[in-house]
Amino acid sequence: MLSAELRDQLRSLLGPDGYLDAPSQRLSYESDSLSLVRHSPDVVLLPKDTREAALAMQALARAGVPIVPRGAGTGLSGGATPVPGAVSLVTTRMRRILRIDADQRIAHVQAGVINVELTRAAAPFGLFYAPDPSSQMACTLGGNFAENSGGPHGFKYGQTARHIRGARWINPRGEIVDWLDPVVDPEGLDVLSLLVGSEGMLGIVTEILVDLLPIPEASETLLALFDSLPNACESVTALIASGLRPSAIEILDQLTIQAVEASVFRAGYPQEAQAVMLLDLDGTAGEVEELRAALVTILREHGAFQTQHATDPEQRKRLWAGRKGAYGAMGRLAPDLYVADVVAPRTRLAEIVGLASEICAELDLPLANVFHAGDGNLHPNISYDRRDPEQVRRVLLAGERIMQACVERGGTLTGEHGVGLEKRDAMCSLYSDEELAVHALVREAIDPGHRMNPGKLLPVRGCREARTRSPYLPGMPEYDVEVRESTP
Ligand SMILES: Cc1cc2nc3c(=O)[nH]c(=O)nc-3n(C[C@H](O)[C@H](O)[C@H](O)COP(=O)(O)OP(=O)(O)OC[C@H]3O[C@@H](n4cnc5c(N)ncnc54)[C@H](O)[C@@H]3O)c2cc1C
Repeated sequence: MLSAELRDQLRSLLGPDGYLDAPSQRLSYESDSLSLVRHSPDVVLLPKDTREAALAMQALARAGVPIVPRGAGTGLSGGATPVPGAVSLVTTRMRRILRIDADQRIAHVQAGVINVELTRAAAPFGLFYAPDPSSQMACTLGGNFAENSGGPHGFKYGQTARHIRGARWINPRGEIVDWLDPVVDPEGLDVLSLLVGSEGMLGIVTEILVDLLPIPEASETLLALFDSLPNACESVTALIASGLRPSAIEILDQLTIQAVEASVFRAGYPQEAQAVMLLDLDGTAGEVEELRAALVTILREHGAFQTQHATDPEQRKRLWAGRKGAYGAMGRLAPDLYVADVVAPRTRLAEIVGLASEICAELDLPLANVFHAGDGNLHPNISYDRRDPEQVRRVLLAGERIMQACVERGGTLTGEHGVGLEKRDAMCSLYSDEELAVHALVREAIDPGHRMNPGKLLPVRGCREARTRSPYLPGMPEYDVEVRESTP
């Protein structure tokens, strides 16, 4: 519990908009988008800039209080979910785009800027910000930084890490550290890269310097229809082998198509298709034309029974609205959605998608697939009702088995949603003790008190127990946290 004195100090530092402690105010911070685990934070802090965040963190460090960083809370692995005894430090009031430098093609932003707002602001300069998570209408650039987020166009442009040029970061002691100089190859250890994807475990990033790219001369969207999901997956394997480089390759299966077409995100996907593939192509007009011809040939050879392309911006937006709104549309199927996030080798997509479907059929759970096929990043989505403990048990079991199927076939635990609380113990299935010890040493050096986002990312009590139980068991039910004594 926070002392009355510390509460007063934080309240006067951050003002009424930056300090929330009434139960009704804390309600919406109880979980991230993994709604299975919830815990009310003692206090929610919303600093408006780096200075306020640093002063608050210094006060919390002196009192030894753990901190859970949070952006928009769209994370799907419980990363921003509060833990007992911790305060939530939220960046959503840090929403200013501080500078767009069109000559250097960089932008300097506060961490709470919403992803899509940066691309909108860069458009008049003929520039765009490439990482585009499907949650881009809501998620923050700080959250993207902390999760090394991807998105449909990650296939060509890479995940967030490829676009980060600098950051202003507050360490667990509340000290501000600047890496805001946009040099390409700074001297010394590449500490910035260590912070990207560290899931709030090493401190809080409050400002970010990112690369912007020129908007391509021409772009279009290709829609391919398949009479089976395995055929669609096989054609991705063939596309990868061909070396062709569309900017996005996404797949939606039948159940997803039905949910989308019945919703406000209706995109006009033909409902007779068992799967649709959405591809984006960009470059010069000539390159796009040539690429389309080559892609259509491969897709047809591998079972696409129809292809159509859209160049009109409104038509393209509509096709993509279906993909980006797919999770929202699944709200029609059940009150809750478990979004699994695993990576399969791109030569084994059809096999692993098939296994996920068998696992869910066996456990009597509905499965809808919508995924970043070009990256092998699968999202088997299971609709359920968390008020029914028996359903929850089966959902967790399905998640565990799907993870296991992927890892045992050369894939990995997460493509973009992070480890968080959910996959913390499953790290034992992927890494050896020695490898995990390196992770732990890095944390130990930066946060010896384990006060930053405790209980997330790294197994709390070592792997021996997790490995005997089941190395893949999602970490949610345990929910244990270990915070140590440390002097600021
Ligand atoms: C509908 C939907 C679609 C999605 N699609 C994608 C997708 O295509 N690609 C993808 O990668 N993800 C996707 N996600 C997951 C999620 O949107 C991303 O992980 C996103 O980056 C989270 O951003 P956020 O601002 O919501 O962060 P939060 O959920 O608030 O936090 C995420 C993690 O980052 C930490 N964190 C947040 N801000 C900071 C900060 N300033 N400093 C340090 N640590 C911080 C938190 O502690 C937590 O561990 C999707 C989620 C939803 C709900």
